Amino acid sequence: MKPAPFDYVRPSSVDEALAALAADGDAKLLAGGQSLIPAMNFRLAAPTRLIDLGGLDELRGIEAPDTGGLVIGTMTRQREVERSAEVRERCPLLAELMPWIAHPQIRNRGTIGGSLAHADPAAELPAVMLALDATLVARGPAGERRIPASGFYVGLFTTALAPDEMLVRIEIPAAEPGTRSAFEEVSRRQGDFALAGVAVSVTVGADGSVADASICLLSVGDGPVAASAGAAALLGAPLSDATIAAAAAATAAELDPPGDIHASPAYRRHLAEVLTRRALERSLRA
Ligand SMILES: Cc1cc2nc3c(=O)[nH]c(=O)nc-3n(C[C@H](O)[C@H](O)[C@H](O)COP(=O)(O)OP(=O)(O)OC[C@H]3O[C@@H](n4cnc5c(N)ncnc54)[C@H](O)[C@@H]3O)c2cc1C
Repeated sequence: MKPAPFDYVRPSSVDEALAALAADGDAKLLAGGQSLIPAMNFRLAAPTRLIDLGGLDELRGIEAPDTGGLVIGTMTRQREVERSAEVRERCPLLAELMPWIAHPQIRNRGTIGGSLAHADPAAELPAVMLALDATLVARGPAGERRIPASGFYVGLFTTALAPDEMLVRIEIPAAEPGTRSAFEEVSRRQGDFALAGVAVSVTVGADGSVADASICLLSVGDGPVAASAGAAALLGAPLSDATIAAAAAATAAELDPPGDIHASPAYRRHLAEVLTRRALERSLRA
């Protein structure tokens, strides 16, 4: 199928892009086009104007600040994130998940910000940003706004971005010493969207007990889901087979996953428990 007719603009600055967005309530930002263009071809989206961010070098790049962590421009291609030495060194969880997103051809075009803004509940990046306690930085007519990942996802394919705002960068804090992480997912075929997936990040204190933990899942709700009971089951205890089994069971119990032609709610809950246990076991061995 072909998209409905639309205008196309290619701004040369973020301010120009924001002005174009404010001028047309039915306009859409175009990043890598890997979700938007298929949606337009199926006529699930019919923007009157596409604002192509492809020429905005100011939105691209991976920085490793002296203070630790990472700052990633929204238009950084997913493949650049996957291949970055800084990402591997400073944020192994992000490096681990990247190859799970779609196929190399899609990651060559798709951007980190496009995936985060699209807010597909089956996408890997939103769940991982939640696990990493990342901050998503938006810019609009009134300037910049910093939104914690925990407040960014507000519903199915819906974010806290206002219609006249755009995502400009992602800030990932430095990991505390003793932090281990792992990512696990199951899909029907390599490259398909996951039936369920989980990102875990666990900080083990000097006394061997868990000081901080997050267990964040994809494909089990309207958006990324932070399993608070699962994480609480780990806190203050050593990371052992028994605490891992308890945390995985608590995670599964607190979920209310949807069912579809690919997986029933019960199967998704089962996957969540198994994947959480596997991810925590790998963290334990790390
Ligand atoms: C066959 C196939 C398989 C896929 N499998 C997976 C998968 O397994 N896992 C996965 O996570 N993804 C998957 N994807 C989606 C892929 O990761 C996309 O690249 C991603 O969802 C969107 O990124 P994009 O840069 O292409 O954004 P676009 O498609 O250009 O934009 C997506 C949406 O985000 C908005 N947007 C883009 N940039 C901004 C911004 N800076 N600020 C505000 N809004 C913005 C757009 O207006 C649009 O609404 C798959 C895609 C295909 C075609």
